Amino acid sequence: MKNKGLVVLSGGQDSTTTALIARKECKELYGITFDYGQKHKIEIKAAVKISKLLNFKTHEIIKIPNILKSSSPLINKKNKLEKYNSSKEISRGIEPTFIPSRNILFLTIASNRAIFHSCRIIYAGVCEEDYGGYPDCRKVFIDSMENSLGLGISGSKKFIKIKTPLMKLTKKESVKIAVKKCKNMKEFNKIFKETHTCYDGIKGGCGKCHACVLRDRGFNEIGISDPIWQFRK
Ligand SMILES: [Zn+2]
Repeated sequence: MKNKGLVVLSGGQDSTTTALIARKECKELYGITFDYGQKHKIEIKAAVKISKLLNFKTHEIIKIPNILKSSSPLINKKNKLEKYNSSKEISRGIEPTFIPSRNILFLTIASNRAIFHSCRIIYAGVCEEDYGGYPDCRKVFIDSMENSLGLGISGSKKFIKIKTPLMKLTKKESVKIAVKKCKNMKEFNKIFKETHTCYDGIKGGCGKCHACVLRDRGFNEIGISDPIWQFRK
């Protein structure tokens, strides 16, 4: 069973990097992507492409639209997305894009699919270093969720493992690992060209939303050109 892993793939930089790490650790990968009513479907299309490039055994798009309600501009059309000129402008509080209970729901469904595919490992690209902002991306939450899922499924806290290899990494370190896990730069560019991170749904990224600002900073700090920049207007 150790040779199987279930990857929660959003189609973004972090989940793709996590999938690359999982590819090294598992013989078989199963992917799931959530269609949760997010305004932009571009990230779902990205996830489909990445799952094919990484030879996932299966990739399921799980539709749960209109279940989550939130003021987050990711799902609420009335609210405008915050834009930043640099990462210095991002405050340390809860990010306005945060959707309460989203990751709790995603990991719950992921555990169901993991069991279905006989996997005991769930890979999730959550990361504590994203300027706080998301309480459900912290290690303390993931550890607690892992225990709860295990207890709820089998009676044992350790039944399911949630691997979050990016948890303590900065975006710069994350880019470095992604490069290392690819066969070469050609493969890295081919895969990362398809990733989508921008909260504004703009191909190539708007460069100003929370997700774009952090992604751009990581690539700039390590001195690698992000393959999505070729699409930026
Ligand atoms: Zn953006």
